[in-house]
Parts: sequence; structure tokens; C-alpha cells
Amino acid sequence: MAYLTLKGLNKIYPNGFHAVHDFNLEIEKGEFIVFVGSSGCGKSTTLRMIAGLENISSGELQINGVRANEMGPREREVAMVFQSYALYPQMSVYDNLAFGLTLQGVDEDIIDEKVKNVARILGLTDYLDRMPRALSGGQRQRVAVGRAIIRKVGVFLMDEPLSNLDAKQRVTMRAEIAQIHRQTGATTIYVTHDQIEAMTLADRIVIMKDGYIQQVGTPYELYFKPVNLFVAGFIGEPPMNFIRATVQDGCIDIAGQKLNIKANLGHHAKAYEGKDIYFGFRPEATVLGEQENSHVLEARVELTEMLGDNTNVYVNIGPHNAILKVTPYETPEMDTDIVFSIPMERTYLFDAETERVISLEDQAAPV
Ligand code: ADP
Ligand code: MG
Repeated sequence: MAYLTLKGLNKIYPNGFHAVHDFNLEIEKGEFIVFVGSSGCGKSTTLRMIAGLENISSGELQINGVRANEMGPREREVAMVFQSYALYPQMSVYDNLAFGLTLQGVDEDIIDEKVKNVARILGLTDYLDRMPRALSGGQRQRVAVGRAIIRKVGVFLMDEPLSNLDAKQRVTMRAEIAQIHRQTGATTIYVTHDQIEAMTLADRIVIMKDGYIQQVGTPYELYFKPVNLFVAGFIGEPPMNFIRATVQDGCIDIAGQKLNIKANLGHHAKAYEGKDIYFGFRPEATVLGEQENSHVLEARVELTEMLGDNTNVYVNIGPHNAILKVTPYETPEMDTDIVFSIPMERTYLFDAETERVISLEDQAAPV
């Protein structure tokens, strides 16, 4: 098991494109880290720099405290699972699993024991004689994961390993990957664009955008304490609602309804007078009706979407759109007026200029 230090990593491709900017991260032994972000934000590039498949333009990568920038992929003792499974089509499942160890000249009896052990963990025992073409997508992916975990390595790197599976297989494999991590305790870096995968698998998530880290934190921290508008809007489905408004006398005016946001702003209240902010609240943070210690708003129900375990309610607050999530039992009628509340502590304010959250913990008032 390995620990890693990524210090100011940058990647500038030969064509001059700066894909990863000043990437800093400490990864502890046994941690499950997920890099998440939209397509093109630099996740794979960062992972490939760690794997040794892409050279590091500047900055330092340390594995177990030792500089690894110049090490080849083998020397780094990492195993990578790719999006495309890259199995050997002409080899049986058994041989696919055994291949890496055979190359290393490991004793056949030991290989046999390891292959059977990994097959058992991954539920492939009955498929060892099959060829890859005779397997389902999920089974192929299991073989690919098996090939990675059969070798003793310090770090597992996985690049969108579930993206070629259908929705149901993805859920099953996701649970299996979590299970394998519990069993092996191996340090793992997992790349995905899927926030649900990130939230369910990660000890800590690294959210990226345009080559920059936006925030690093546990799923809990990212959900409850997003540092900026991007993170707040990325985690959560449907995403957080944002309403742009101007602060006047410590209040914001949302379609003629005044909300006193002095409690949100705390000691920043004066500094934000006359400035634009975003008022943010999650669909699931709302309560129908009027509640105490809450911001209360009137809205018009445009559309309801019954999803089974909950209902998404699309509302208009004057010219603003928002989504509320309610239980199926409370689903309001369409084209009716409702009142809803958002408990004070479940609301967020963001500086419209910097897009950073306005946090009461910040000591320095904004200029
Ligand atoms: P992600 O995995 O988050 O989808 P990538 O790390 O693959 O993103 O790519 C990050 C950015 O770098 C993208 O804009 C991509 O087009 C660019 N990029 C990737 N590989 C190369 C390359 N070999 N040369 C130039 N640009 C590249
Ligand atoms: Mg990628």
C-alpha cells in the first residue's frame, strides 16, 4: 500500500494546451480518492501522470515519499484499469488473469492460487475457461479489475471503469469495487464524471474544472460545505437552485418577496450592501408550508415529476425557476400557488463576482 504526494503538478501538452494547473494533493495509505468533473477537465491527464503514461511538465509526484517523476510505469508499482477493458481476446479468462504474473516469472502453483482467489472475489470462478467474447460487459470488466488486483501493487488507478456498462451493471459493479476496496484496503484513485459514483465510492473527492482543482473533501463536506458555485451545482441531483439578487438593507428581493439575509451574511452584511449575490438552496432542503427559522417563499407550480421515491416540483418564483423535491404524498397540483420554506441553515449565499460561497467562518471581509 502506498501514499502519494502531488506537488504543484502541471501538464502542458506538446501542442501548448495547459490541461492541468498546479495540482496539489496528499493521498494517504489505503484511501479511496475520486477525481470527478465534466469531460475534458483533466482527470485522465492527472491519472496518467501518476501512472507514468504521460510525462509531468512541472511539479513533483512522490510515491511513498520518493520522487517518482522519472520512474517508469512498472517501477511505480501501480495498476491501471481503463475504460476499454483491453483484455487479450485470444486468451481465456484464466490466462488473462494470469498473464501479468506469468510475465514476471511467478511460480505456476502460486499463479494458480492467486487466479482462483481473485476469481472467487470477483465471482468469475465458473468463467475461467471462457474467452472474453463469450462474456457480458460486466463480466469483462470484472476480468479487467481482476487483472489489476492480482498483482501486488501500491496504488490502483481506475479511469471511468464502469462507463461501458449499462445502468444496472454499473450499480452492481460499483458496489463490487467498494467491496474489493474494503477487502484489499489498497490505495485507489478512481476517475469518473458521475457524481453518484464519486459520492458513493470516495473517502475523499477531488472536484475539477478546466484543469483546476475546485475543492477536495469528503462527500459530506462537498455536499454541505461547497466552497463555490461550481461545486454547489455539481453535487446533487437535481442541482442546487440559484437565484441572483441584489442586497439592499440586508435583504434580497426575489420577485417582490423580501428575504432578510442578515443571518446568512453575519459580519459580512455591511460589505455586501448593494452587491449582487446568488441565493442557493437544494431541492431537497425545502419544506412545503410556512416554517420557523426559515426563508419563506411563494411560488407557482408549473410541473410535477413523480419519480417514485420523490417528486420533483418545478416552480416559478416570479421570473425565477426553481425545483423542489417533495415526498410523493405531498405532491402539489399543477398550476396552483404554494408556499414553501427553506430552513435558514440550509441556504447558501455566493458572491456573484467571485462565485465563492459567503461563509460566516471567513474572517476577512470581502472588498
Ligand atoms: P478528462 O479525462 O477529464 O475528460 P483529459 O485529461 O482527457 O480530460 O483531457 C483534458 C484536456 O486536455 C482536454 O481538453 C483534452 O482535449 C486535452 N488533451 C488530452 N490529451 C491531449 C493531447 N495528447 N494533446 C493535447 N491536448 C490533449
Ligand atoms: Mg478521461
